[in-house]
Amino acid sequence: MKQAVIQLQGVGKQFHDVWAVKDIHLDIQSGEFLTILGPSGCGKTTILRLISGLETCDSGEVMINGVNHTHVPASQRDVNTVFQSYALFPHMTVFENIAFGLTIRKMGKAVIREKVAEALAMVKLSGLEHRRIFQLSGGQQQRVAIARAIVNEPLILLLDEPLSALDYRLRKDMRIELKQLHRKLGITFIFVTHDQEEALTMSDRVVVMNHGRIEQDGTPKDIYEKPMNMFVANFVGESNILDGTVTATGQGRMDVTISGVSMNLTNSRGFSKGERVKILLRPEDMKVERRGQEPCEPPLLAGKVQDLIYKGTTVDLIIQLENGQMVFATEFFNEDAADIYYAPGEEVCLSWIDGWEAVLPDE
Ligand code: ADP
Ligand code: MG
Repeated sequence: MKQAVIQLQGVGKQFHDVWAVKDIHLDIQSGEFLTILGPSGCGKTTILRLISGLETCDSGEVMINGVNHTHVPASQRDVNTVFQSYALFPHMTVFENIAFGLTIRKMGKAVIREKVAEALAMVKLSGLEHRRIFQLSGGQQQRVAIARAIVNEPLILLLDEPLSALDYRLRKDMRIELKQLHRKLGITFIFVTHDQEEALTMSDRVVVMNHGRIEQDGTPKDIYEKPMNMFVANFVGESNILDGTVTATGQGRMDVTISGVSMNLTNSRGFSKGERVKILLRPEDMKVERRGQEPCEPPLLAGKVQDLIYKGTTVDLIIQLENGQMVFATEFFNEDAADIYYAPGEEVCLSWIDGWEAVLPDE
C-alpha cells in the first residue's frame, strides 16, 4: 500500500479550554484531492493550521511522509497554504509577491524569474508580472495567491476556502481550473470549504466535519448517496426525510411502515422490530405518477401536489403525503415535458428504486 503523505493520529487543539478539533484520525494519500467540508466554526481552518505548523497540537501527532512533524516548525514543513484572505502584499507587484519566499531563501535571480514565470503560466496570469495587487480583480488576486503557494513546489498544498470571495460564475470556473491544476502538479491538495457543491464536484474524497469531529469520510458518491447520519444528510444536498417504523425483519430486509403503507427495504444497519427510523430520499430519486381512478397500489405512497417550483431544467413538486408530511420530487424535462406538469391539488403516487433510500436511526 502507498505511504500516506499525511497522517493525523488523534490530533486535537484547544482554545481557552474548548476543543476546536478533537481526536482527529485521518490518513491522506499522496496525490489525493481531499476536501474538508463543514459549517463555519467546525474546525476546518484549525486542521489546516495543525498540518502546516501554524498551530501546535494539544494532543496527537502529525506525520508527514512517515516522519513525525508534531514539533517541526512551519518553515520546515513541505507544505504551502492558500489563505482565505489571500494575504498578499497589496502594494507589491505580482512578481514580487510570488518571488517573496524564493528571495528569502536567497535563490538566484535567474532561477527566481524562471520559477515565477512557470507559476504564473500555471494559473494563466502570464504577462501580469508588473501589475500591483490592488490593480487586480478578485479572481486575479486569487490566482496570484495560488501561484505564490505553488512556486515553492510543495509536497502538499492547503487551500482554505480559496473561492469563497469570488462571485458564483467565477467560482464555478475556478473549480475546473483547480482540478486541472491538481492533475498537472500531481501533488496532494487539501481543500477546505463550507460549500457542498464545491466538495462534491472537485474531490477524490470528502471528510465531513461538525463541532470539531469527523462525521463521515468517503467518496463524494458515498457522502451524497449513503450519508452516515442526519447531520451529513442535511448538510450535503436536499433530502426528504420520511418517518417509518420497522414491523418485521429477516434475511437482510425489513418491513417498514411509512405514511400508513408497508414497504420492504434493505436492512443494512440491523434495525430491529419496533424501531423508529428515518428514510432519506433525494428529491431527484422520487418517482411520481399520476393517480388514476384507483388508489395507489402499495408499496406506492399516495400524495397530493401542493405546489410546483420551476427551475429551468427541472420542476420541483411539493407533495403532501397522507400522513401530512411534505416531500420534494424533482422532475427532469424530457420530450414529453408537458406530461410532468402537474397541477396543485392533483393526486399522485410516489415510489423510488429499491435501494436508493438510506435508512438511519431516529436519533
Ligand atoms: P472553521 O475554519 O471550520 O470555520 P476554525 O478552525 O476557524 O473553524 O475554528 C474552530 C473553532 O475554534 C471555532 O469555535 C473558533 O472560534 C475557535 N478558534 C479558532 N481559532 C481560535 C483562536 N486563535 N483563538 C480562540 N478560538 C479559536
Ligand atoms: Mg475557516
